[in-house]
Amino acid sequence: MDALFTVPTPKNEPVNTYAPGTPERASLQAKLSELASKEHDLDMFIAGDWRRGEGEAIKVVQPHKHSHVLGVTHAATSSQAAQAVAAAKGAKRTWATMDFADRASIFLRAAELIAGPYRDALNAATMLGQSKSAAQAEIDSACELIDFLRFNVAFAERIYRQQAESSRGMWNRTDHRPIDGFVYAVTPFNFTAIAGNLPTSPALMGNTVVWKPATTQQFAASFLMEILAEAGLPDGVINMVTGPGPDISDVVLADPDLGGIHFTGSTRVFQHLWKTVGENISSYRAYPRLVGETGGKDFIVAHPSADLEQLAVATARGAFEYQGQKCSAVSRTYMPRSLWENGLRDRLLEITSQIKYGDVSDFSNFGGAVIDERAYNKHTALFKRLADDSEANVIAGGTADDSEGYFVQPTVIEATNPEHEVFREEYFGPITSVYVYDDKDFDSVVRQAADVAPYALTGGVFANDREAIAGAMDELRWSAGNFYINDKPTGAVVGQQPFGGGRGSGTNDKAGSWQNLVRWVSPRSIKENFVPPREWSYPHQG
Ligand code: NAD
Repeated sequence: MDALFTVPTPKNEPVNTYAPGTPERASLQAKLSELASKEHDLDMFIAGDWRRGEGEAIKVVQPHKHSHVLGVTHAATSSQAAQAVAAAKGAKRTWATMDFADRASIFLRAAELIAGPYRDALNAATMLGQSKSAAQAEIDSACELIDFLRFNVAFAERIYRQQAESSRGMWNRTDHRPIDGFVYAVTPFNFTAIAGNLPTSPALMGNTVVWKPATTQQFAASFLMEILAEAGLPDGVINMVTGPGPDISDVVLADPDLGGIHFTGSTRVFQHLWKTVGENISSYRAYPRLVGETGGKDFIVAHPSADLEQLAVATARGAFEYQGQKCSAVSRTYMPRSLWENGLRDRLLEITSQIKYGDVSDFSNFGGAVIDERAYNKHTALFKRLADDSEANVIAGGTADDSEGYFVQPTVIEATNPEHEVFREEYFGPITSVYVYDDKDFDSVVRQAADVAPYALTGGVFANDREAIAGAMDELRWSAGNFYINDKPTGAVVGQQPFGGGRGSGTNDKAGSWQNLVRWVSPRSIKENFVPPREWSYPHQG
C-alpha cells in the first residue's frame, strides 16, 4: 500500500473498581467460579500447535488454597526446547518482512481482546493462579498489559520515523531492522503484564521469540498465548515453552542464533544467564542483547516535614499490596523520630493490623497468599532468625500459616542498625523495615540509605520542605531508576513512569517506553548516491 500510516494515539486503559453492585464485579466473580471449577491442561505452544511437555508434570495451584489444583503443566524436554528455537528461526524471515502496520494491528487487536471479551478470564486467572486481589489483577493483567500493547505500537512508530540527514545529491535512510537471531523471553510470576510485554515487545519490532513463563504464572500465561493466537499472530512468532528454566536455557543459550534475552525476575537468575552468554560468546553469530529487570530493595525516606497520614498510607500500601511481591514494594523506610514517636508508629501499626489476607475470591480481602512454598519458607526462616536478634524488633506481624494457603502476615521490623540485612536483602514478601533517626540527622541518613543495598530500582522521599526534597533527589540520584516525591514507589503506569532500575536491579531499559524497543532493533544505514563522482584524483594533487 502506498501511504505512511499514523498509528492510533494510545490512552491509558480506564481501571475498573469492582465495587459492590457494579456489573464488572458480578461478571468477574462468575468467571472466578467457572475457572476454578475444573482442572486445565497447561500445554506449550510451538509453531502454532498446542503440545504437551514430555518432562515432569507440575501442578499449578491457588497459592491461597494450595490443595486446589488449577491445572497441570509439563516441563519441556531438551528436544522440545530445540523445536521452539527451530520454530522461532523458521518464522523469522516472513515476520521480519511483514509491513509494520500488519504486525502492529495484531497487537492492537490483542489489546482489544483483553480489554473486552478476555478481560475477566485474564483477571480471574491472575487472581487464582498468582493470588492477586481484584484491584491488583485489574491494574496488571488488564490495564498495564493493554497499555503495553497500545503504547508500544506508538513508540515503535516513533523509532521508525527516526531518519538521518541527507546532503545534496544523496539520500540517507535508516532501516530499523529486527536484531539478528531470535529472542529468549523469560518472565516472572508476579505480573501477567510483564509476561505479556517481554515476548510481544521484541515481536512487534519484527523479532521471533521463545518465551518461557514462570510455572507459577502458567495459568494466566496460557490464556495470554491463546489471546495472541486469536489476534492473528502467525505461527512460530512467539513460542511458549513450559517448565522450570535451566534445561530449556541449556538448549536456548547454546544456539548460535541467540540474538537477545528479555528477562524479568531475580538478580541471581539474570546473572546466571549473563554469565552463560559470556561463556558462549565466541559461538554466537552476533553479540546477544541482554535486557533484564531484576530485584529491588525499594525505599521511602521521610523528612520531619512530611505529612504523617500520607506517609503511613503510602508505606502500608507500598509494602503490603500484592503481599509485597512487587519488585517496587517498599521494603525499607527511614522515619524521623519526631513523627515516629508522635503518632506515625501507631498509625502504621493500626493500618497494618487492619490489612486482611485471605482467599482472593472473597473481595473483602486486601490481598492473598505468597506465591509458593519456597517463598513461604524463606519468610518464616527470616522470622526465626529475627527472634534472637538484638538489633531488630518485629513490631507487627512476624507470623505465618500454611495450613490452607501460603499466608504470611504483614510484617514491620524496627531495626537499630542501618546496615542490618533488613535494609539490604530483598525478601519479596509482605515485610518492611524501619530505621528511626534523630531529626537532625536527615542528611546523613539519606547518604547512608543511598548505597547500603545492592539495588537501585524504586524509592522516594516524603517531605514538605523543598530543600529537603531537592537534597534527597540529588543524593539518591543513582539509588533508584524510578523516583517518587510524596508518593509510594509502586504502581508505575505505562507511558507515564517508564519503569526500570540500575545497579543490581537491571539494565534500566525502561519497560513501557521507546528505550526498551530500541534494544530490539539493529539499524542499517543506507546511503544512495544520485551523482557518484567521475574523477578519481583529489584537488590537492594539482
Ligand atoms: P525468578 O528469577 O525465580 O524466576 C524468573 C523466571 O526465570 C521464571 O520464569 C523462572 O522459571 C526462570 N528461571 C529460573 N532459572 C532459570 C534458568 N536457569 N534459565 C531460564 N529461566 C530460569 O523470579 P520470580 O520469583 O519469578 O520473580 C521475582 C523476582 O523478579 C524478584 O526478584 C523481583 O524483584 C523481580 N522482578 C523485577 C521486576 C523489575 O521490573 N525490576 C519486575 C517484576 C519482578
